[in-house]
Amino acid sequence: MQRSELVDGQKPFAIILGCSDSRVPAEIVFDQSLGDLFVIRVAGNIVAPSQVGSIEFAADRFGTGLVVVLGHTMCGAVEATVEELERPSENRSPNLRLIVDRIRPAVQTLLETALKNDRERLIRQSVRANIRASVDHLRHGSQILEQLIQGNKLLVVGAEYSLETGVVDFFEGIPEPGDRQPIAASEWST
Ligand SMILES: [Zn+2]
Repeated sequence: MQRSELVDGQKPFAIILGCSDSRVPAEIVFDQSLGDLFVIRVAGNIVAPSQVGSIEFAADRFGTGLVVVLGHTMCGAVEATVEELERPSENRSPNLRLIVDRIRPAVQTLLETALKNDRERLIRQSVRANIRASVDHLRHGSQILEQLIQGNKLLVVGAEYSLETGVVDFFEGIPEPGDRQPIAASEWST
């Protein structure tokens, strides 16, 4: 799509809630162009009110029918949360703490299992648990989104981008071609 064709409006086919990590820009990961994706990026792909509001806006205004929570392996925000839980620090910035607090519940449960002795697996599972938590929050934390989901107009799924392989794994719900919105399978195969 050309810039000049989009001056009068946009019709993004997916909303991406991704991490701010410089290695995971949604448009490049999915090989998409101007006007294709409505992207919200925040450290740890957390869901706070402004993220929910942004998604409500896009779903309502543009009729976008797919939301992808895009986390990634070795996420620094998740690692920082694990560190915080292991060694609570008094001096952390209150703003950063707000992010850690959103990730904390997903990690805390895993820290109470044998995973606490296996750092690599703990981080891996924590990343996925955090993606699931964000998906769950979006599915149930907004009346507007919940109504769209119930009316079969919105699908919220979770995916993990592997920094190691470049592959995106849709492990939490799979967007099907032709389902609700025109999503060609080829658009997701890059
Ligand atoms: Zn990250």
